[in-house]
Amino acid sequence: MPPALHSLNADLHSHSAVSDGALSPRALVRRAREQRVELFALTDHDTVDGVAEAQAAAAEVGLRFIAGVEVSVTWAGETVHIVGLGIDAADATLRAGLADVRAGRLQRGREMGDQLARAGIDGAFDGALALAGNPDLLSRTHFARYLVMTGRCADTREVFRRYLVAGRPGYVPHRWARLADAVRWIRVAGGIAVLAHPGRYKYDELQLDALLSEFKALGGAAIEVATSNHGAHEAKRFAQHARTFGFEASRGSDFHSPTDADVELGRVDPLPLSLVPVWHRFA
Ligand code: AMP
Ligand code: MN
Ligand code: MN
Ligand code: MN
Repeated sequence: MPPALHSLNADLHSHSAVSDGALSPRALVRRAREQRVELFALTDHDTVDGVAEAQAAAAEVGLRFIAGVEVSVTWAGETVHIVGLGIDAADATLRAGLADVRAGRLQRGREMGDQLARAGIDGAFDGALALAGNPDLLSRTHFARYLVMTGRCADTREVFRRYLVAGRPGYVPHRWARLADAVRWIRVAGGIAVLAHPGRYKYDELQLDALLSEFKALGGAAIEVATSNHGAHEAKRFAQHARTFGFEASRGSDFHSPTDADVELGRVDPLPLSLVPVWHRFA
């Protein structure tokens, strides 16, 4: 791989207000351009509805753009995220699959609201819903923003520590897509499948190896190594896993909002030179 490929400022993981981000697809793309991103993917949770606007905005400002998505999956009882890059956003199989994954978010949100009410926090469902641009994509992030807005917590990090996660009030287990289906929808739509932020999953080494093996066997192409979700230790660890399993590597900020501390578009460490950047397919 030519070193120039590694130094390209590729940001292949981001969210707009079409899912749980704060900026419109157009504003997000403009910000990416301002932050000197050179190759950019919009990867909203379980929807491709922001892709057309982002694509048009990218053409306006001269930013190279990749259509993407981040699919919610349940694997061995935990939530895993699979990013699809270079997908055809019009593909009927992908769209139908994503619609199935979205179904149930509203009901889960109601149950989260009920739990929080029992913990003494009223109005969270309505409050979160009002913050969601898209009721279909009502997310824990919207609940977190509501709890910060109403002074319950100082920031979203604190919300996720105290609420909304397993064992805490506001956590409602949910069954997302199957790994095999998510990878299949992405590939049928002409995209490549990337395991998002592997350092975030609470698996032991054995389970993690099983996940990586299964993902590889299903046709998964890459794993995220450079992401705001990883510290230096995890980046190193997953660089090693990429080499061991023969995965290409991806880089993305997982940007959601300008007010998220420490996360900015395009500001992620470069990939180690020993890894193959997944964007060689798009550059
Ligand atoms: P959901 O898909 O509704 O379960 O929400 C998951 C979203 O919550 C993720 O995409 C992140 O944006 C956000 N999230 C999850 N865990 C945390 C955390 N510990 N701190 C901040 N945001 C988080
Ligand atoms: Mn999110
Ligand atoms: Mn994710
Ligand atoms: Mn994400």
